[in-house]
Amino acid sequence: MLHSCETPGLLPIQAAISNMLKNVHPVSESEWVDIEEALERVLAEDIISTINVPPADNSAMDGYALRHKDLIENNQLTLVGTALAGAPYNAQVSAGQCVRIMTGAIIPEGADVVVMQENTNIHDKQVTFQQIPKLGNSIRRAGEDIKKGQVVIEKGTQLTPAYLALIASIGISEVAVIRRVKVGLIATGDELTPPGEALVEGAIYESNRYALTALLSTFAVEIFDFGIIKDNKEQLKTTFEQAGSHCDLVISCGGVSVGEADYVKEILDQLGQINFWKVAIKPGKPFAFGQLNNALFCGLPGNPVSSYVTFETLVTPLLNQLCGAKIKERPYFIARAACTIYKRPGRADYQRGIFYRDDNGELVVKPNGKQGSGIMSSIANANCYILLGQDSGNLEQGNTVKIQPF
Ligand code: AMP
Ligand code: MG
Repeated sequence: MLHSCETPGLLPIQAAISNMLKNVHPVSESEWVDIEEALERVLAEDIISTINVPPADNSAMDGYALRHKDLIENNQLTLVGTALAGAPYNAQVSAGQCVRIMTGAIIPEGADVVVMQENTNIHDKQVTFQQIPKLGNSIRRAGEDIKKGQVVIEKGTQLTPAYLALIASIGISEVAVIRRVKVGLIATGDELTPPGEALVEGAIYESNRYALTALLSTFAVEIFDFGIIKDNKEQLKTTFEQAGSHCDLVISCGGVSVGEADYVKEILDQLGQINFWKVAIKPGKPFAFGQLNNALFCGLPGNPVSSYVTFETLVTPLLNQLCGAKIKERPYFIARAACTIYKRPGRADYQRGIFYRDDNGELVVKPNGKQGSGIMSSIANANCYILLGQDSGNLEQGNTVKIQPF
């Protein structure tokens, strides 16, 4: 097992991520889906356009199509017809003529410029032009967005709403995507009660699965929810075995540290393998990664903020790779600390913060209240992570720091 030299027993985040990625074999089976069903799915093949977009030169304005050189000689032309989007003017524009044209209509033969309506007057089929635009003005050229034969979207791209429109715009209605990754979700703990039921003494409401399910819904996954499992070794073992044989990835939360009812590590040692189980991250030190039957396994800490943050920082890169998606670096910005930010060296800290522009228009950030790993409101009301490196200590007011907007 790998250890950080600076902090014995705790694996630095980047080492943890590298260890995980080395062990991830992306799912490669693919299937065809309609574009209506393709949101969040990962492309299994490049998308190549068989057409130009736009397919023909067309007008970017409502106005008049004409021959540029005619305007230089004479500022009055005769109106000879109309071109609408979907209803072209099917004759030649000749000397001294102009055609009324609407946005999206094909540029008629002979015309080489469109003059916007606002710069014209019309009287008795005679159109007068107040300005001479440049040759080619207000014409959208065939293929200026996409060229025939061009790779429009590369395989491994996760489809967003804009990509769906792009695919539709080249006439494609079905795409080959990687099959959904099967993810098992298990909450562990005797105290966990489903929302809606009465709480008995010592119990709390189970909440992590709701955040995790929602976070997972932005990936191309199929979720197998195994519900809440008691801190009972046999029951846990049965559930883990089942999840491990059905899923590509099993995510549990709770029971991963060293308390008396923390069985996750012990069960993994029996049913699979643990690669590491302590990461130099705050919140979220106990985070286990390993193998369970054929599935990868991530054991998240039970504390709600910890499970959320470790999902975002550690599970996300793994899941992206497992889904066959290109790994995207999440962007960060630099802001100034609006107050002292307290931090002890030893673990990278993902504090929940609020960033805003101060009176000088400068980006500043402050921690959002109490930072305890059980304080879910710290994350719900925040708008960013404040990223503090493993070795960093307190940060003085006015110093710069990396932030990552939610
Ligand atoms: P554990 O990691 O099992 O020691 O749990 C750490 C803390 O997180 C305890 O206070 C648990 O009650 C709480 N916890 C564990 N799992 C959940 C969950 N699914 N939802 C909300 N709180 C949880
Ligand atoms: Mg527990």
